[in-house]
Amino acid sequence: MARLAQTHGLTDVQQEILATVRDFVDKEIIPVATELEHRDEYPQQIVDGLKELGVFGLMIPEEYGGLGESLLTYALCVEEIARGWMSVSGIINTHFIVAYMLKQHGTQEQKEYFLPRMAAGETRGAFSMSEPALGSDVSAITSKAVKDGDEYVLNGQKMWLTNGGTSTLVAVLVRSDEGHPEGTAPHKSMTTFLVEKEPGFGEVRPGLTIPGKIDKMGYKGVDTTELIMDGLRIPANRVLGGVTGRGFYQMMDGVEVGRVNVAARGCGVAQRAFELGVSYAQQRHTFGKPIAQHQAIQFKLAEMATKVEAAHAMMVNAARKKDSGERNDLEAGMAKYLASEYCKEVVEDAFRIHGGYGFSKEYEIERLYREAPMLLIGEGTAEIQKMIIGRRLLEEYRFQG
Ligand SMILES: Cc1cc2nc3c(=O)[nH]c(=O)nc-3n(C[C@H](O)[C@H](O)[C@H](O)COP(=O)(O)OP(=O)(O)OC[C@H]3O[C@@H](n4cnc5c(N)ncnc54)[C@H](O)[C@@H]3O)c2cc1C
Repeated sequence: MARLAQTHGLTDVQQEILATVRDFVDKEIIPVATELEHRDEYPQQIVDGLKELGVFGLMIPEEYGGLGESLLTYALCVEEIARGWMSVSGIINTHFIVAYMLKQHGTQEQKEYFLPRMAAGETRGAFSMSEPALGSDVSAITSKAVKDGDEYVLNGQKMWLTNGGTSTLVAVLVRSDEGHPEGTAPHKSMTTFLVEKEPGFGEVRPGLTIPGKIDKMGYKGVDTTELIMDGLRIPANRVLGGVTGRGFYQMMDGVEVGRVNVAARGCGVAQRAFELGVSYAQQRHTFGKPIAQHQAIQFKLAEMATKVEAAHAMMVNAARKKDSGERNDLEAGMAKYLASEYCKEVVEDAFRIHGGYGFSKEYEIERLYREAPMLLIGEGTAEIQKMIIGRRLLEEYRFQG
């Protein structure tokens, strides 16, 4: 029935994967999502099902036990999953970013050790840049690693770790001045550490504490936490890529694919909002006819569907650009910016179409209304996307006069 958000030129394998995921979303996620979200309950059964489908290893190369699929396949799966419940796509997203960073930047030993476990969903990833005093301004990170023999000692506090409790591997970005004299540009003195830990809360490894879940307005079910490092000792072979000072670039590479992912989430949530709006508009009657027959409501539906199409097209374009091996920061920034803004608008329109019932927790749109704002913030706010887009445009359109 879904006419919107079609993707042309997919291979048979891609179509088969998507059909399987869509079927899973319709049968296993949508029927339980709102109830679990209201209880802020971790969707263990759904996660187990996705593990079985191989979703945790979708982009991990086949030689490491994954499916070796493209960013496009991955993003289209995320779009489907977010259509069912955005929190589930959040459970996969940080795992995917960490696996991607390992694939691109890890040493051979790190790839062989982590990627097969990640493909199976046994090791689950979280990534951590933000701190209590910073999110957008990553260069201001104050958490620090100091070398001590064959180990590094990490101290500092991190904030907003999606999957901070449930993950067993956290990619943590800290400042590491060793080998980088005073005055080195901040982004050249940062290092990503691969920190293994037990799942759960409290002291999950000597020197590492995950205090508990942050209570959020939406995006429930998935755990978001702080992380406190107090004399945390990490062996030197757990520096991502084996060399210090490259962490900022590694993280930015991860965030670039993460942005396509957040765009895909925006597309999925917007699609679901449209489905809910168009369905309700044909059932609710006012002034003797279904509200869908009032032109004002039809116009809303037209605008919503146009936004769903536009966001999908930009997200697919950004994913294909990365898959072709080209730099995609401009396209990813544009896709993330547009998809998250449109998502918020489409959700708002679907909410209005529901009248007073949209305000009731019995209706799914109430959940979407609390979820959409997260997309305006995660993987860089709208302002940060516009800074990236603007900078790239000035590079491309340099004044020649
Ligand atoms: C639910 C949730 C999950 C998250 N998960 C993770 C995670 O897994 N890992 C992780 O590392 N982080 C995570 N984050 C953190 C997220 O990336 C940051 O919240 C985000 O980058 C914004 O940073 P901030 O909150 O510190 O806002 P700030 O950087 O303080 O920004 C505040 C406001 O100022 C604006 N602003 C900032 N700088 C400029 C500028 N130069 N010009 C114009 N406007 C500007 C921003 O756009 C924003 O509107 C998560 C956040 C949330 C809410």
